[in-house]
Amino acid sequence: MGIVHISLVGIIALVDLIFGAKVFLEDRYNRVNQSFALFVAVSAVWIVFDFLAYQINLADYQLLINRIVFAAICVMILMLAWFVDIFPRKVFNIPKIVKYLVFLLAFMTTFLSLFTNLVVKDVSVESWGSNIISGKLFYIFAIYASILAIYSVVVLIVKVVKFRSVEKQQIKYILYGIAALTLLNLLFNLFIPMITKNFEYGRFGSYSSVLFVGFTAYAILKTKAFNLQIILTEIGVVILNVISVVSIFTSNSLTEGLLRFLFAIVVFYGSYILVQSVQREIEFRKQLQTMAEQLGHANAHLKELDKMKTEFVSLASHELLTPVSAIEGYLSMLLDEKLARVDDPKAAHYMDRVYVSAKRLARLVTDMLNVSRIEEGRLLVEKKEVSLTGIIEQTIDELKFKSEEGKQKLTFVDANHWETFGDPDKIKQILINLIGNSIKYSRNPGEIQIIAEIAPTAKVQEIWGKIENQIKNGPLDDQEAIKSAVDEKLKRLVGESQILIHIKDQGIGIPKEELPRLFKKFHRVGDFSTAESQGTGLGLYITRALVELHHGRVWADSEGSGKGSTFTFSLPEAKVQKEIQDLEAQVPQTKEQLKPLARPAKEAEDL
Ligand code: ADP
Repeated sequence: MGIVHISLVGIIALVDLIFGAKVFLEDRYNRVNQSFALFVAVSAVWIVFDFLAYQINLADYQLLINRIVFAAICVMILMLAWFVDIFPRKVFNIPKIVKYLVFLLAFMTTFLSLFTNLVVKDVSVESWGSNIISGKLFYIFAIYASILAIYSVVVLIVKVVKFRSVEKQQIKYILYGIAALTLLNLLFNLFIPMITKNFEYGRFGSYSSVLFVGFTAYAILKTKAFNLQIILTEIGVVILNVISVVSIFTSNSLTEGLLRFLFAIVVFYGSYILVQSVQREIEFRKQLQTMAEQLGHANAHLKELDKMKTEFVSLASHELLTPVSAIEGYLSMLLDEKLARVDDPKAAHYMDRVYVSAKRLARLVTDMLNVSRIEEGRLLVEKKEVSLTGIIEQTIDELKFKSEEGKQKLTFVDANHWETFGDPDKIKQILINLIGNSIKYSRNPGEIQIIAEIAPTAKVQEIWGKIENQIKNGPLDDQEAIKSAVDEKLKRLVGESQILIHIKDQGIGIPKEELPRLFKKFHRVGDFSTAESQGTGLGLYITRALVELHHGRVWADSEGSGKGSTFTFSLPEAKVQKEIQDLEAQVPQTKEQLKPLARPAKEAEDL
C-alpha cells in the first residue's frame, strides 16, 4: 500500500510538473504561461505535503506538514485567480489598489499559516492521518480563499458567455477541469467519508488536481502545441527515469548500485532518443499536413479557374454565334444568284472563300458550345427505348447525297432489329460524326460499311483497357485522352452484352500511333494548314462524350495510312433500361439542362 501510494503521488506530481513545464517553455515571457507554471509548481508541493499529512508515522512533523499544506493552498489560489484573470485576455480592469490589497492579504495569510499558530493551531493525529485544530484567525484564511475562489469562477463564467469560437472553447476546457476537480473532491472528502466513516480516501481529492492541470494545459496549448502523443511519451519517459534513479539509492551493495547507475544512463539515453524521434515524426506529420492543406487550396483554386474558363468559353461562344450566323446567312444569299447579283467573278470568288471560312467559324463556335455544355454536365439527354436500326437507316438516308458526292457507297446490312435505350437525336449525331468523317477522309471512290453485332461486355472492357494502357505508356501529353468529360457513374457499362456498331471505310487511314489520341480535344492528324481540311478537331471528342453518356465506348482501328479505318462504338441493349435509370438517378443534376446546338447549315450537307 505504502509504496503504491508513494508512487502514485510521485507520478501525479510529476505529471503536473511536466504540464507546467510544457506550458512555461512554450512561451516563457508570457504572463499567462508564467502564472500557470507557478500554480502548477505550488500545486505539486501541495500534493506531496497533503500526502504526507496522512502518514501517521510522521506524527512529530504533522504540525509543520499541515502548515505547509495551508501555505501552499494560499499561494495556489492566488496564482489561479491571477491566471484566470489574464487568460486568454483580461475582461475586468481591477484597480491597482485592490490588487495590492489582495496581494497583501495573500502574503499575510500565507505567512500566518506557515509561521504562526493563528491559522493552524495544532494537529491531532488520528488513525487515518492528521486532523487540524484551527487557530484564532482561521476565518481570515477562509474568507481569503473563498473570495478568490468565487472571483475565479465568476470570471470564467463571464468569459465563457462573452467570448466566441476558440477563446470560448479554451475557457470551457478550464471549466471542465474545475468541474472534475470539484466533483472528485466532494466525492472523496465528503460523500465517501460520510458513508463509510473513513477519512482515508480524502487524499484522492488532491490527486484529482491533475485533471484540472491537464485540461487547463490543453486549453492554453490547444491552438499551438498540445500534442498528446509527445506529452504521454514525455510522462512515460520521466517516470521511467525517476524510477531508475531512485532504484540506484535503494541498492543493497555497491556493485548493485553501480549496475543500476549504468542502467539508469542507458535508460536516460534511450529516453532522449525516443522523445527526439517522436518529436521529429510529429514535426514531419505537421509539415505533411500543411503541405496537404496547401495542395488542397491550390486544387480548389485550379478548379475555380477551370470553371471560370468553361463559363467564359460558353459565354464567348454564345456572343459569337449570333453575328457569325448572320454573316454566314447574308453571304449565302449574296452567293445565291437568284437573290443577288455579283458581277465581278473575282469578287464572287473572294466571297465564296469568305463564306467557307464563316461556315467553319460558325461550326467551331457551335462545337465549342456543345463541348462546354458537356463539360458542365448541362447537356440534355432524353432517353427512351428506340430502334437503333431505324436511326442508322434514317442517318444513311440523310447522308446519301453527301456520300455520293464523295463517291462513297454507304451499305448497312442488318438481319437483326437492334433496340437500345438512348436519346435518338444524340445517337444520330454520333453516327453523323463518324460516317461524316469516313466520307470526309476518303479520297478515292470506295465503300463505307456499317455493321452491327452483339458482343460480350467483357470484350468491350478488354479493348478499352488495352487502349487505356497504351495511352498510359505513351507520351505524357497523351494522358489527356484518358480524361472523360462524363461522370464515372453515367458512363459505366451496363448489362452482359453490348451492341457494337462498326463504321468501316477505305479512306486515308490513320497511323497506328495516332489511334489512342484521336479522341482528345482539338486533336487532328497530320498538317491542317491546308484549305482542304474543314474540321475543328472537336467532332470525335463530342462523339466520345455522347457515346459515354449512353454507357458506351468508342474507339478506332486502322492498319495505317492509306489502309482505311474502322470506328466502333458500343451501346447498351434496351432490356437494361431499368439499370440505366437507377444509375442515372444516383447522379444529382443541379444545373439547368440544355439541348445541344445543331451544327450550322444542314448537317448532312455540311460535314
Ligand atoms: P475534325 O473536325 O478534324 O474532323 P474529328 O474530331 O472529327 O475532327 O476528327 C479528328 C481527326 O481524326 C481528324 O482530323 C482526322 O485526322 C482523324 N479522323 C477522323 N475520322 C477519320 C477517318 N474516318 N479516317 C481517317 N482519319 C480520320
